Amino acid sequence: AKEEGRCTYRFYTPSLTRAAKERLALEARLRRALANDEFVLYYQPQFETDSGRLIGCEALARWRSPEEGLVSPARFIPLAEETGLIVPLGEWALRTACAQGMAWLKAGFPQMMMAVNLSGRQLRNPELANEVKAVLEQTGLPPQQLRLELTESIIMDQGTEAVERLQTLKALGLGLSIDDFGTGYSSLAYLKRFPIDELKIDQSFVRDIPEDENDMEIAATIIAMARNLKLEVIAEGVETQEQLDFLRRQGCRGCQGYLLGRPVPATDFERRHLSPS
Ligand code: C2E
Ligand code: CA
Ligand code: CA
Ligand code: CA
Repeated sequence: AKEEGRCTYRFYTPSLTRAAKERLALEARLRRALANDEFVLYYQPQFETDSGRLIGCEALARWRSPEEGLVSPARFIPLAEETGLIVPLGEWALRTACAQGMAWLKAGFPQMMMAVNLSGRQLRNPELANEVKAVLEQTGLPPQQLRLELTESIIMDQGTEAVERLQTLKALGLGLSIDDFGTGYSSLAYLKRFPIDELKIDQSFVRDIPEDENDMEIAATIIAMARNLKLEVIAEGVETQEQLDFLRRQGCRGCQGYLLGRPVPATDFERRHLSPS
């Protein structure tokens, strides 16, 4: 639909101008939003499939726009990446998530992983490891409890430089996770070359379980591959009991999805998932 839009605009200059103007306006509003503290993190729980025990959460950015209300990251992350605003925004997300993780730890809640998304621009920033180190030191979150999520394409695009950057990050003691696994050009060779800890099965392979046999085959293969490579594996987008049962039968260690818990603000996360037993 995006492609179509682009073609249509090409023949109507006034629309192109309008689209460009809208983009510029959105960029300016994003900058202001960052300065005005309009971004918030939502947290989505991750569970051990077998036991149902909470093992972590993923921090997901939202924009509380005064004009538009809650804006999805699908609308602002791509633009933030294009404009470079993702670097300060990503650092804010990392700092906020680590501070929250540490606050929960101090409050006496059980230890769990805090997963934070990283964009390509951030990985390309030579200062990234120093910034992550500073955030860990300043917030006090034990590095073992931080997990950074990167997509396959981000890693593949940056070649051998990515290997070095990831190794520097790993040396801080944190964990690395491959997001949206199976959607990029994954090869066993690259899995061995990168110092990663976890694969996240993309939700496109979970969505149509049990109707789509190909997807079931792919999900099962990723789980088996993770086991052979001694990597952890977590499935995203688990929405039905049938999907959960299938993943459990295949031996998928972790699950994340609307069936088990939607992304929610920190206070709701605490009430729903961290209440003292
Ligand atoms: P992602 O990292 O793949 O995050 C998972 C997305 O799937 C989230 O969308 C989550 O709300 C959604 N989801 C979780 N469970 C289910 C489910 O059962 N069914 C369905 N249909 N969806 C589910 P969200 O929060 O809209 O985020 C979209 C994307 O925006 C993320 O995809 C991530 O790539 C990006 N993003 C969000 N926050 C950040 C951030 O702080 N930094 C960066 N670089 N990217 C971010
Ligand atoms: Ca993610
Ligand atoms: Ca994902
Ligand atoms: Ca499918």
